[in-house]
This record gives sequence, structure tokens and C-alpha cells, in this order.
Amino acid sequence: MDQPRRFAFTLKRLILLLALVSTLIILLSSYLAIFQVERKLLIDSSLRASQSYAARLSLTADLFFNAAQKQLVFSAGLLGEEFDNLYAIAEEADRLQIQSKRYSSVLVVDKSGVVRAASRNSANMTGLRLVSDANTQALTTQNPVISSPFRTAQNNHIIAMSVPIRNTRGKYLGYLVAEITLQQGGIIDSLINARNYRKDAYIYVIDNEGDVLYRAADGWTESTPQGNVNKALLEGRDQGFLHMKNLQGEDSLAGFSTMEISGWTVLVLHPARADVVLLYQVMLQVLIYTLPFVILVFIVIWLLARYISRPLRQLASKADTMDSQDVSAEIQQINAWYYEASKLKSVMLQGIRLLHQRIEKLSTQAHTDPMTGLLNRRGLYEQVDKLLGEESQIGVVTLDIDHFKVINDTFGHDVGDAVITQLSRLILGNSRDDDLLCRMGGEEFLLLLPGTSLTRAVQLAERLRRQVAGQNFEGAGNVTISLGVTHFNPAKVNIDSALKSADKALYQAKNDGRNRVVSR
Ligand code: GH3
Ligand code: MG
Ligand code: MG
Repeated sequence: MDQPRRFAFTLKRLILLLALVSTLIILLSSYLAIFQVERKLLIDSSLRASQSYAARLSLTADLFFNAAQKQLVFSAGLLGEEFDNLYAIAEEADRLQIQSKRYSSVLVVDKSGVVRAASRNSANMTGLRLVSDANTQALTTQNPVISSPFRTAQNNHIIAMSVPIRNTRGKYLGYLVAEITLQQGGIIDSLINARNYRKDAYIYVIDNEGDVLYRAADGWTESTPQGNVNKALLEGRDQGFLHMKNLQGEDSLAGFSTMEISGWTVLVLHPARADVVLLYQVMLQVLIYTLPFVILVFIVIWLLARYISRPLRQLASKADTMDSQDVSAEIQQINAWYYEASKLKSVMLQGIRLLHQRIEKLSTQAHTDPMTGLLNRRGLYEQVDKLLGEESQIGVVTLDIDHFKVINDTFGHDVGDAVITQLSRLILGNSRDDDLLCRMGGEEFLLLLPGTSLTRAVQLAERLRRQVAGQNFEGAGNVTISLGVTHFNPAKVNIDSALKSADKALYQAKNDGRNRVVSR
């Protein structure tokens, strides 16, 4: 028989595979979706935080400039009334410088750009003609000006905050300018460089022209170009946020806000790296939280796959042994709890029933003589072993119809057949259930009689002979038989020699004139 192939793909494995693959796909796409949403949320909140920090810085600076400007405007009003009183205006300049402590020096400049009076700490500047851009700007606009950072002739790094001075009739007389130092620890520096935001943040201040005035690492600069940080980035907006590359080309997040009075813009920028690390931490959390659920799902899938595949697996394993006797009972035990399995189960049971019936029929056919229903030679030899093991004495009768050829020749073969059948019924009528009755061929029969002595065997033979002789055989009339009888102990005598002995007795009966019983 062919060895059944061992399949790697069992139903259970297929169900498992299908369920696992679909679960993994769902999980992965969920993780991916969570990753994208979290990333957007984190980046958005980071951007907004930067923007609101930038707005706070710019508001603080605005408040400072506003207060300073108001103070200067107030003083300029006083100065306009007594512009000719050099002593008074110098006093006023000095008072401003000392009182507020915000200014490194305070100057009163006439409309030709010459310093008319100065605070005491800059008294030596009185009479000097100013040449700075800030001066030009103040004179030409005749409006309040906050200059970009610049270096004075005395090499001070400052911004200049000026307001126009007019007399009571509104005539332009010149301007009042306060110089605000940009050195480290100065008022502007401490306003902008307040280190209470995230450590990896960079703060820039960009002026109206788009030049970078201040960078956290370098402090206030004199319009040094700062790579990709420039006004164009802001796209004309007063405030907002940007997802951009920093100077090192790193992915960075920035928020910005523009001051009202100076028009400068504060830009707060930090690399996105920290947010990405945070994102991975969040994803790890998601993974850890979902892991028990995932494991549970896998266990449930595994159990289900087992439960679903079990009846089919059991039925399939029984299919190998369909010819065995107990297979029906074993199949009955299988819990075929769903339609396909139960259908297969009932079909298999029905198939097995038919198979066994067929086997039995074939075996009966192989062992019996179809005409008489008695055992044939093969049937005899198959059953005789059992008899030989159990019995201590067995009677043997062998019989043959006398002159059967004549019957055939005279009445025809069919009548001959009918005689054989009628004789077999007679034999059957004279036997017990456990006798082995065999048609050995033609019109010759052998009877093995378990537990029967020679005397009883002879009695049976004689009874049979008389019954046959006394009976009318349909179509043939009178028929006689000759019988040879013997008896043996299977423990001592071989069955073949016992049969030979019975044959000899039959031969003797024929020779002695037929229609008789001979025993030996
Ligand atoms: P004897 O008294 O010596 O036995 O003479 P006989 O004519 O009966 O001789 P034998 O037993 O040798 O003859 C058997 C004959 O039985 C030969 C055969 O034609 C016939 N025969 C064998 N089997 C069948 C059968 O199944 N049906 C019929 N009708 N005849 C059979
Ligand atoms: Mg014969
Ligand atoms: Mg004969």
C-alpha cells in the first residue's frame, strides 16, 4: 500500500496562518496609523509650543520698547519746549539715563545730526556730528525709530531708540535718542535670552530687512548672514510655525512671532530629533499596552483553529483504517459539530457500512458453494483449523452419488443439478449447527462432525443413506449414495490422513456394490 503523504498544510495550520496573517496586517496598519497620528500630534504641539514661546518673548520685548518709547516721547515733549536751554536739555538727558538704567547713554541731537546735549556719561559726545544709519533714519523719517544693532565710534554694540523733538508749534527740531547696549547681561539680552524654554532650542531675532540680529549661541550680531534663517521663511506672516531644516541640515521645528514696535521677529527653533525620540517612546508604550491583547488574540485563534480542524483531522485519520472492525464505533465518537464535518462523518459511516457488507458478501461467496449453500473446499479449510484446536474427536463422513453420470446422461444436466441440491438439503437436515458441511466438487460431499464418535458418525451416515434411498428425486426418481466413515483425534492424527482414510472407505463402499456405508 502507498504510504500516505505527510502534508505540511493541515487545515489547522492553514486556519492559523490565515488568522495570523490577517491579524498581523491589521495590527501593523493600526500601528502605522497610530504612528502617523501621534507624529502629527507631537509635531503640531511642539510647533505650537515654539510659536507661543516666540510670542511671549516678542510680547515682553514689545512691552519694554513700548514703555521706553513712551518715556522718550514724554521727555521729547519737555525738550521741545526748552530746546535752546542747553543746560536744561542736558539735565533731562542725564535724568533719563540715570533714572531708567535701561540706557547706556541718552543724546539730544539737532536736525543737522549734531549732538546738542548728552547724558553725563557721554558728555564728550556733545558737539559731535553723528554719521550712523540710525541717525540718518531718524532725521529723514522724523519719526520714532528703533535701529538695527550697530557699533558706535566708541565701539559700543548698541541699538538706538529715537523719538522726534518738535517745538510747541510742531516744528521739527531734532531727536532724542537713547542707546541700549547689547552686551551680555544687558536689558535686551536678558529679555530675549531667557533660558526657560527647552534646552535644545535656538532663538533668533530677525529684523525688518530679514537680517539676523540675534542668535542664541552668538548673542546679538551685526547682520551676519545665518544660512537658511531669513525673513523669506516667514512668508509675510506675523506669527506662525515652520517645519524646516536648521543650519546643520537637521529636520527642525520652529515657531515665530513679530514684535509690533520694532517689527523684529523672534524665531524659536529646535531639532525634531527630540520629538522623534518621544514618538518612539509613545509607540513602545502602545506596543506594550497592546501586547497582552495581541497574545490573547493569538491564543484564541489557536484554540479556535484547533476546535475547527479537530473533527476533520480525526475523520481523516480514521479514513486510513476504514477496513478495520472498530472504525465505525471510533468515528461515532468524533464530535462533528458543524455542517461539513457532520456530513463527512455520516457519509464515512455509511461508506464503511457498505464496505463491510461487501467484504462479508465477498468472503461468503469465496467460501460457499453457490448451488448448495454449503462450504466449498476453501471454506472448509478456512474453518477447519478452529475445529482442530478445540475438539478431541471428529467424525468424518465422505459421500458420493452412485452412477451420477448415468443420471446426467439420462435426464440431463439440470436434473443432475436438482439432485445435488436436493441431496444437500437432506444433508443439512441431518446435521447440527457446528458441523462443517462441504461440497468438495461434483456430487461429492464431506461432513466433519465435531465431538462425534465413530459409532455416531456411522449412525448418521446410515440414516442419510436410507433417507436418500427412500426418497424420490424430482425428475430422476431413485438415487443412492455411497458413504465412507472414519473418526480421528486431531491432537494425534493429521487431518489429511483422516480424509484419505475416509476416501478409502468410500472407495471400498463403491467397490462393495454402492448404496452402503463403510467405516474404518
Ligand atoms: P460412481 O457411482 O462411480 O460415482 O459413478 P459416477 O457416474 O457418479 O461417477 P463419478 O462420480 O466419477 O461421476 C461424476 C459425474 O458428475 C461427472 C460429471 O459429469 C458429473 N458432474 C460433476 N459435477 C456436476 C454438476 O455440478 N452438475 C451435474 N449435473 N453433473 C456434474
Ligand atoms: Mg464422484
Ligand atoms: Mg458418483
